[in-house]
Order: sequence, then C-alpha cells, then structure tokens
Amino acid sequence: MSQIPERVKQWMPAHLHGLEPYDPAFTPCDTILSANENNFGVPASVRDEMLAALAGVEEMRYPDALSGELRAELAAWHGVEPANVLVCNGGDEAIFNFFLAFGGGAKLLNCPPTFEVYELYGSMVGVSAHNVWRDPETLRPRWDELLAAAPSCDLAVITSPNNPTGDAVERAQVELLLEAVPGPVLVDEAYAEFTGAGQLAAGQPGTALPLLQAHPNLVVLHTLSKAFGLAGARIGYVIADPGVISALAAVRQPYSVNSFSQAAALVAVRRREEFEPNLRTLLAERSRVQCALAELPGVTLWPSDANFFLMRVPGAAQLRARLRDEHSILVRDFSAKPGLQDCLRVTVGRPEDNDALLGALGTLLG
Ligand SMILES: *Cc1c(COP(=O)(O)O)cnc(C)c1O
Repeated sequence: MSQIPERVKQWMPAHLHGLEPYDPAFTPCDTILSANENNFGVPASVRDEMLAALAGVEEMRYPDALSGELRAELAAWHGVEPANVLVCNGGDEAIFNFFLAFGGGAKLLNCPPTFEVYELYGSMVGVSAHNVWRDPETLRPRWDELLAAAPSCDLAVITSPNNPTGDAVERAQVELLLEAVPGPVLVDEAYAEFTGAGQLAAGQPGTALPLLQAHPNLVVLHTLSKAFGLAGARIGYVIADPGVISALAAVRQPYSVNSFSQAAALVAVRRREEFEPNLRTLLAERSRVQCALAELPGVTLWPSDANFFLMRVPGAAQLRARLRDEHSILVRDFSAKPGLQDCLRVTVGRPEDNDALLGALGTLLG
C-alpha cells in the first residue's frame, strides 16, 4: 500500500497527518512465525462442524447485530451475563471503540513497549498518551510509577500477557490500577489462554475477570484470533459492566460482525475444550524452543506467558532477513522500536515449525 500523497493529506485534519496505511511486514514463507497466530489451526473435527454451520448461514439477511447466540455462549463460559459481553470484529475493533467511546481529549496511561495500536487508535480520536516505560532490562511494568501516574490520567490500558514482551500481570496489580485510575481500564488479554494449561475448560483463563464485580471500570478484552486459531474470522469480545457495554455498543457499527464469522465462532467456543490438547503441546514447545535458543551464542530471552517470545540477538534485523530469504521463515522485527533494540518477536508454532526455526538459527548463529 502506497503512502498518502501530500495533496490528499491536506484534506485530512492535522492530527491525522502522521498516519500511514498499516504494513504487517508480511512476505509469504513456508514457516510463518510473525503474527502470533495459532499454527495448529482449528482441530479437524471442530472444523467440519464449522464448515457445516457456514453452509447454513442466511447470507441475504443482515447479521444478528449483537451476535446473540455467541454472546450467550461466551457469557456462560466466563460466568457472566450476556449484558456483560460485546462481540466485536476482532479485538482491534474493540480497542478502537474503547477510545471512541471514552477517549476524546482524554489522557491515556500506557505502558510501552506494548501493542502500538493503543497509541495509534487513541491518537485518531484525540487521546494523548502518558507513557510509563517498562524497565529496560526486565521489560516488566514499573508499578510504582504507573500507580503514581494513574490518578492524573483519565483511562488506562494494560496488556496481559503483553505483546511483544510476553509477560503477564498479576491480578493484584491490576486491582491496584483499577482503584487508582478514575476512568475505564482496558485489560487486553488477547493471549490469556496461553498463561497455563486447562484455561479453556476453567473459563477464567489467567484473567482479571474476577475483579469485575467490585470494579465496574474494568474492561477485559479477549479474542479468537490467537488461541482459537481464527484470526481470519475477526472475532473478539469485551467483558465489562453492562453500562460500559452499552457505551461501546453505542459507538460501534451495528453490523460489524458478519454472519459467517458468528457461525464459525459459535462452533469454536462451544467446542473449546477440543482446542486444549494443541494448547498443551504449544506450551511444551514454548519451553523446548526457549531452552534450545538459550544455548545459542549472543541470544537473550525473556520468559513468556504467551504463544510468542521476545529474543535479543546482535544484528537482529539482518538475522530476520536471512531467516526469511535463506530459510523461508518469517518472524517479526522489533529492533527499530524504542526500548527493543536488536529484538525479534517469535511465535511458537507446531513442532515442525519450531524445528525449522531451531535448525535455521543453529546454522545462522552457531
Ligand atoms: C492480536 C492482539 C489483539 C487482537 O487481535 P484481533 O485479531 O484484532 O482480535 C489485541 N491485543 C493484542 C495485544 C494482540 O496482540
């Protein structure tokens, strides 16, 4: 996608002049470990039912605006009421609507390096970020500073596990944040299902959800793009106080979640326990890959609670290009981002994906 020409920019408001079309830095490769997707995909048995459900969609009708069946299923899973749930066109839409509803002119407490979408979407609706940078060595949030800054901010976002650093936040810390921030706090749990085994059955995957009762400013975000292997379906959901859900529903495009995606997601969520074996394999693979990489010269790794991890290695940008060009393996380069010098983000894949990665890195670094 080309850049926006100056003659077109002059039609845009000044606060949007810094924007450019999103570049996912994607190149087709044999092994894709760049976007934190679930390379196991949907289990075959679940996929068969999913395809049958798609065939039954009445595509001439508008979708169910609030994804009623899916909403009810998600609510039952998480032990909340349907009024606590809003289904969205991917977590990204939920993040955008969060800022649209609560952000105009507001000050956002943000904890970089983190998901860049927060600052980007916030900036579109006049949000200014108050950035409390993570510790440069551990890449963990500096809680004292965050909590000190919280009362002077209007809203906050915290990511657990965080992308791209991989660390999860303790529930007790989230609670302190909920008490310190005067407005809504978005807890982005896109990777919550990877925080440990058994999360899909339990319904409370390493999550801040139990805090909702006492803290109506908690806004939890989940997605089916990661653990459920449905990134292409674009389904995310928010769990929050019914009043917050109403505000988010008021700013959304009513038909943003199409009927096909609703049908596919409903099957996946109903049969969620069938995703568990692959998730367990993935968690074991995460340890295996990290242990093997730790042996390679010059590699620094951070522990991860997600389906990806960050590694620091001298000449990271060049290494990423050689992985792509000589081994057809795609990982994500963060080396030009503030605080992430020489860092690559690597998604944990299937055993064969990870073998390919370890073989290639052994050749290139060993
Ligand atoms: C992937 C991701 C999301 C949501 O992705 P969608 O595909 O839009 O559901 C949200 N937050 C973080 C931190 C992510 O990495």
